Amino acid sequence: KPIVLSGCQPSGELTIGNYLGALKQWVDMQSTHECYYMLVDQHAITVRPKAEDLRNATLDGLALYLACGVDPEKSTIFIQSHVPAHAQLSWVLNCYTQMGELNRMTQYKDKSQKSEANMNSGLFTYPVLMAADILLYGADRVPVGDDQKQHLELARDIATRFNNLYGDIFTVPDPFIPEHGARVMSLLEPTKKMSKSDTNPGNFIGLLEDPKKIAKKIKRAVTDSDEQAHIYYDLEEKPGVSNLLSLLSCATGKSVAELVPAYEDKMYGHLKGDVANAVVALLEPIQTKFHQYRADTEFLEQVMRNGAEKASARANKVLASVYEAVGFIPRP
Ligand code: ATP
Ligand code: MG
Repeated sequence: KPIVLSGCQPSGELTIGNYLGALKQWVDMQSTHECYYMLVDQHAITVRPKAEDLRNATLDGLALYLACGVDPEKSTIFIQSHVPAHAQLSWVLNCYTQMGELNRMTQYKDKSQKSEANMNSGLFTYPVLMAADILLYGADRVPVGDDQKQHLELARDIATRFNNLYGDIFTVPDPFIPEHGARVMSLLEPTKKMSKSDTNPGNFIGLLEDPKKIAKKIKRAVTDSDEQAHIYYDLEEKPGVSNLLSLLSCATGKSVAELVPAYEDKMYGHLKGDVANAVVALLEPIQTKFHQYRADTEFLEQVMRNGAEKASARANKVLASVYEAVGFIPRP
């Protein structure tokens, strides 16, 4: 079976963007792939969260993975910091990554612009740790949202460079970006992607949000300034409306082309009401399961323990071949 690896940062409550861009694919890939899914807490500290918040977000994220249908019987689910090989390989790969390459990464630029007070080097070398995450498992495919395309390309470049020097150590991974839902946009600023760490909560829909609050947020979503409602899909002219249409499409399973004719003489409010209903219908069963898993500490611990063990076994093999390749003497 081809190998799949992916993860989310416990940097806040997972959003409908994380679900449609990543988690939904993870669930579908479980039967056809050998899957590794993690919570990347080491990535999350690049923005220095409060310790208590990070702990809660990590456990919430784990329970959400399970609630969305990631199955510990089928997939290896683990916490990044439980597998030291990630940080270990990351150091090695730092030495095979050029400053210029990292300087071209747009996520680093966006995030450092947002918080100029905290431009730490972890934020800068984030993509190197991400390359380590992927390469440690020999992942063939990495299901991610559109925003991670550039990081994936860098992981491929690092792997290829290393292989050219030392032989076939790494599998060069392919991104797996879904056709629909790969770039869910912010509700109030529909030209930028939805992000769970957005400082304006009006911009995102959290997977655990109260249905009434979700409906309210969708009602406030920016459409456009036309006097009269024109409901059609056009990312350039109508980013807000297009985002709502694609949310509706993802949540109902109907194509945008199928949906649009029904809104010919309707108001934006109609569309928003339908989007809210569809999103709530999608999230309600997930929320119910989340609360069950989140309360079962023993089960969560068992999932983490098993996952860390299985992930370490695989990761340590690749790490050992890297250490040998670069000339580290094995510990006697
Ligand atoms: P943060 O703001 O902390 O970076 P995030 O919402 O961008 O949070 P990540 O943990 O960075 O989430 O990314 C987890 C996964 O979700 C990645 O595969 C990423 O590509 C995907 N993803 C993130 N945002 C979106 C989005 N708006 N639409 C589709 N996929 C997304
Ligand atoms: Mg992100």
